[in-house]
Amino acid sequence: MVRVFCDFDGTVAAEDVGNRLFRHFAGPKAEEIVKGYLDGTKSAVECLSQECAAVGAVSVASLETFVDQFSLDPYFPGFVEFCRGRGMPITILSDGLDFYVGRLLRKYDLNDLPWFANHATFEKQGTLARLVPEFPYADSECLQCGNCKRNHMLTMSGDDDILVYVGDGISDRCPVRYADVVFAKRGLIKYCQSENITFYEFSTFLDVQQRVEKILLQKRIRKRREAEMARREVYLQG
Ligand SMILES: [Mg+2]
Repeated sequence: MVRVFCDFDGTVAAEDVGNRLFRHFAGPKAEEIVKGYLDGTKSAVECLSQECAAVGAVSVASLETFVDQFSLDPYFPGFVEFCRGRGMPITILSDGLDFYVGRLLRKYDLNDLPWFANHATFEKQGTLARLVPEFPYADSECLQCGNCKRNHMLTMSGDDDILVYVGDGISDRCPVRYADVVFAKRGLIKYCQSENITFYEFSTFLDVQQRVEKILLQKRIRKRREAEMARREVYLQG
């Protein structure tokens, strides 16, 4: 079975909603915090926790109004239809926060898709609230990401499955190592090139769909050897 996994910010959502949200509500402080994440000196957990703290007390309604202005990739709903028609399970894996991922998926009637993200709690402070992140899907050993995409991929798949991954950024670096077919844009392209991970460049989900359609025509879809080995290694350790 072919299983598709997609990043959210900048991939399923046309823009990086989390980044835009923190820049809007925390100002230049957010920029400073993200720098450490981009240069690898700060884990996603640290980054997200500090960004939420930097937002301070806000009205939940203002957060929601802000999120509502964003759109998904215009071809994503069609791609979901396509996957469903071909019996390919599709899952969204986000290292962002559930409140905006869920809100945007609901806007497109797509919240019945399986999706996983870090959990945002709202601690009431008068009429306002403070954003506090929780990390229910963090890996016990690797602290790089809040929501361990690799673990979701491996628990949701079996030996015979072909794993497709679609992404664009830092939180996609780990999961592409375990995927047989990789779609990359933006920063992820450079990463795949430097790590010798074969990938297809894409700009929208229409590109992804057209390529997957071609791949499905092959008599036998080949697994990526390095990905298979990487998966096996995790199973052996587990
Ligand atoms: Mg992204």
